[in-house]
Amino acid sequence: MKIKIREVPLSGMAYTDQALAADLDIVDDFIDSRRPVVVSGTLTRIEDYIIANVTVSYYLAMVCARCLTDVHKAGTAVYDLELEFGPKDEYVDLGRAVRDELLISYDPHTLCGDDCKGLCTGCGADLNKEKCQCDVKPMKGSKGNAKSKKTTFQSPLTPAPDASKAHDHHSQHQG
Ligand SMILES: [Zn+2]
Ligand SMILES: [Zn+2]
Repeated sequence: MKIKIREVPLSGMAYTDQALAADLDIVDDFIDSRRPVVVSGTLTRIEDYIIANVTVSYYLAMVCARCLTDVHKAGTAVYDLELEFGPKDEYVDLGRAVRDELLISYDPHTLCGDDCKGLCTGCGADLNKEKCQCDVKPMKGSKGNAKSKKTTFQSPLTPAPDASKAHDHHSQHQG
């Protein structure tokens, strides 16, 4: 995505190009290597800069930070990039600037969905697909699931919780 500086008019021009992640030197493997990264927008030349107002479209290919399943989804980002050039430069490298922005935007906490339930830390079950098995196979010494152990045990040293409830006069304002 090298831009020939002389070809960018002061008044701006439309621009569209695409490249594979590898061609953009993105080797961190969070962008789908088989699908192109598409860059489109406008280029404008202002003094010693090419200003690129571009939308970058790509496909993520990574694993969910909670449940470890593959995440493949489209992503877009809008960038206002200032590509400085010197008096002897013929080209500016838009691809490199896009690459830098994408690497900065890389989020290792990406989820398969906002409501991903993740894996149970006890039994490892993928809670999006299956039920926690901690109750089914209780292990000795395991703290287990709070749901299964709703005991009414009360220490004789502490007063029963019901005693305080009797004096609990919450005034309710209605209407
Ligand atoms: Zn997930
Ligand atoms: Zn579990």
